[in-house]
Amino acid sequence: MPKPQTEIWHDHELGDVARRLETDTEYGLALLEVRRRLNKHGSNELTQRAGDTKLQIMVRQFQQPLVYILLAAVALTLILREWADAAVIFAVVIVNAVIGFMQEAKALKAIDALSRIMNNEATVIRGGEKSQIDASELVPGDLVLLQSGDRVPADLRVIKEKDLQIDESALTGESIPVEKETSVFPADTVLAERKNMAFSTTLVTYGTGVGIVVATGDRTEIGQINDLIASADVLETPLVRRINELSHMLLKVILVLAALVALAILLRGAPPVEVLLAAVALAVGAIPEGLPAVVTATLALGVSRLAQRRAIVRKLPAVETLGSTTVVCSDKTGTLTQNQMTVRSIYAGGNCYVVSGSGYEPEGGFRVVTDSGERPVEPAEDETLQGILRAGLLCNDARLVKNDEGHWIVEGDPTEAALLVSSAKAGFSRKGETLSSPRLDAVPFESQHQYMATLHRCDTESRVYIKGSVERLLPRCVSAVGGKPLDANAIERQVETMAGQGQRVLALATKTVPRDQVTLQHKDLEEKLEFLGLQGMIDPPRPEAVTAVAACQQAGIKVKMITGDHVVTATAIAKQLGLQGVRDESSETLIGMTGAQLEEMTDRDLIESVEDTAVFARVSPAQKLRLVEALQSCDHVVAMTGDGVNDAPALRQANIGVAMGITGTEVTKEAADMILTDDNFASIEAAVEEGRGIYDNLIKFIAWTLPTNLGEAGIILVSAFLGFQLPITPLQILWINMSTAVLLGATLAFEPKERDIMNRPPRDQNEAILTKSLIWRTLWVGGLLVMATYFVFAFKKSLGVDLSSARTAAVNVIVIGQAFYLLNCRSLRHSMFGVGLFSNLWLWCGIAMMVGLQLVFTYLPVMHHLFGTAPTTWRPWALAVGAGMLLYTLTEIDKWRLHSSSQ
Ligand code: ADP
Ligand code: MG
Repeated sequence: MPKPQTEIWHDHELGDVARRLETDTEYGLALLEVRRRLNKHGSNELTQRAGDTKLQIMVRQFQQPLVYILLAAVALTLILREWADAAVIFAVVIVNAVIGFMQEAKALKAIDALSRIMNNEATVIRGGEKSQIDASELVPGDLVLLQSGDRVPADLRVIKEKDLQIDESALTGESIPVEKETSVFPADTVLAERKNMAFSTTLVTYGTGVGIVVATGDRTEIGQINDLIASADVLETPLVRRINELSHMLLKVILVLAALVALAILLRGAPPVEVLLAAVALAVGAIPEGLPAVVTATLALGVSRLAQRRAIVRKLPAVETLGSTTVVCSDKTGTLTQNQMTVRSIYAGGNCYVVSGSGYEPEGGFRVVTDSGERPVEPAEDETLQGILRAGLLCNDARLVKNDEGHWIVEGDPTEAALLVSSAKAGFSRKGETLSSPRLDAVPFESQHQYMATLHRCDTESRVYIKGSVERLLPRCVSAVGGKPLDANAIERQVETMAGQGQRVLALATKTVPRDQVTLQHKDLEEKLEFLGLQGMIDPPRPEAVTAVAACQQAGIKVKMITGDHVVTATAIAKQLGLQGVRDESSETLIGMTGAQLEEMTDRDLIESVEDTAVFARVSPAQKLRLVEALQSCDHVVAMTGDGVNDAPALRQANIGVAMGITGTEVTKEAADMILTDDNFASIEAAVEEGRGIYDNLIKFIAWTLPTNLGEAGIILVSAFLGFQLPITPLQILWINMSTAVLLGATLAFEPKERDIMNRPPRDQNEAILTKSLIWRTLWVGGLLVMATYFVFAFKKSLGVDLSSARTAAVNVIVIGQAFYLLNCRSLRHSMFGVGLFSNLWLWCGIAMMVGLQLVFTYLPVMHHLFGTAPTTWRPWALAVGAGMLLYTLTEIDKWRLHSSSQ
């Protein structure tokens, strides 16, 4: 099918574009029309390019060295007409592939589901009203508003823009953002040069703009190059890679051993089939084939556990890195605090006012503070108070709406919402004010500038209102409003007082400009402002963040607050949160570092002081990056949160970049390893906790699988080199290996987190998987299994029972021994009674099923044919349980010894 030729739009005049798309550049589409177009064009979604097909995943299961060995064995047994052996080995290949397939498919599905959670929103103008919609509902002709941090939701023709810059690297490969404009370009302009277009999925890095949707879904430019959406190699993580390396190393060792075993048996004059089977059995017994599959499955399981705790993992390695996090750098506003701003105090015209009322309810009054106490004031009679309240209302993009339950909720920035509420308490309404002073233009808030400004047409003049941090505004003010003199010292003292109570302080100012001025630029705001006053708002800490901070610090994780807010406000809140390192022990004062101080420091000075400083205030996004780097050069594993566009580099640099799901921009989410769906610090702590638990479980599985594999291999090695009769046949080893890995070992993935998991220091990220104690344990547990097997086998034979039933007894010893050892592995520190006997029911189900299978294996005639087993009496079972209990007890003693010596 030929590709549909995309229509081009960059060579049309604006009016022409609007006409052809039958839309209006101010009013947008009517709602009915939107519905009609949605039916016609379909939803604005890219068809997911299918990832690996089921077949491909299945094929991959056969591309493993173990499978090659087994298939070779199948071929040989067929040639030798050992039908039963051939069938069993072939069945093992199939079962192995099916299990691998199921685990991988499940893991891929879990990860795939995540990419879909992150849906995109778009701001549109429809029927003249601004609203927030799901980007999938966009239709051609829609008017879309763009703002820095957004992901462009469809292909747009830009009709208005203010410093609009877009990163189009996803589409063109060009990493420098493109400055957009609205002029017409010749028809033959290449994609990267079509500066009046904004393309779907590209990222707005700066400025604002408005565009008309010209193409949606698969008809967009990105939809045409659909291989871009192919998922990368999502299952690779450092740990998976290290484990693969470990498996490869083991494989080589095992192959050499297998060759030696074959040689040894051959020299003893055994027939070739037996030689081959023994070599295969050794290989199968020794290779921890479940390992890679269990690792990916555990990580994938971790992904969904994390999602339940409101942390969406975007990059799988984050799951394991989380567990070794040593520093969490968190935003203050909204993450550590509730982001429920309420104006509490106002400073205007030299007077201090207190504001009553709570939350966003526009109910409350004003009292002025005098030497003799507080006295109510009527705002209508206080002109300076009115001035600052009006400024807060006009220089504002937030909206307050009543939800279905009758509560007032915010659309937009809570800081601005608080200003709306304070003005509403004085009877101001947005409708009234915008009628008398319509807005002509605005400079939006960007954290690097720390202010926002609007331009209004008033009766006789044009007026600018600006609000932002005191540091930025005060130096630009020449006088108080009305030309009165400005007492900068008094204002600064006032700021200290308000900030000392943890209030977020905003300065407000104004300026008249020539009446013919209709646009507003940063340079218009550089000087000659008139100071209106201050509004101080409270934003209480989240109670759950207080608990989470304590939990992190208990777990040896440092918590640092990184904020754009005032240093005094920040330290006051940090103290309320219980952050270690805000209080100077000697002087009892609160200490934090400001961005300005940080700027002055050399890298070396910064590295020295970064560990002991808990609060970084008035920090710019570029400084966040420096902080991450400084912490990393102190060997820290850093989790860093961010929400703004400019935070992206710091998030990328951090070991775990955490983006805010609610307030975060698309650009930040794109750069993040993890997204918090509730923007809550407590979710970071929860994620670290889960990350530790997941890693723990992986190590538990490794601690279980290595000794048991070694035991199985050891049995064959001993027989080959010491000339003993084989206590278990190669086929029986295949049986043990396949059934125990799934029914016993894999259930460790469901082990709940250990209770004291947040009382330990963070794991060293460079710690080897094979620690000394693990190697030691592998050796002696493996050795014990070998000895127990030979003991029971020899004992049965000494009683004069037949070989088959002695071998069956030996198999049962191994399986039961592994089951007991599984109980040891439920925790590497505590006994299973310490972790809760029944806290992992999967494990008990697995053990019960395994016992059932062994009964079938021992007593069912078909099995006797297939595996050469024979019924046994109760005595060998009792022996097996005895051996298992011994193994369990010895391992517990070893665990206790290790644990007490490490303390
Ligand atoms: P944070 O989110 O860490 O509190 P921000 O970068 O949002 O920091 O804010 C930094 C400073 O910019 C604030 O302390 C305040 O003075 C100012 N500010 C914040 N929001 C706005 C806004 N909407 N309009 C104007 N100024 C703002
Ligand atoms: Mg903020």
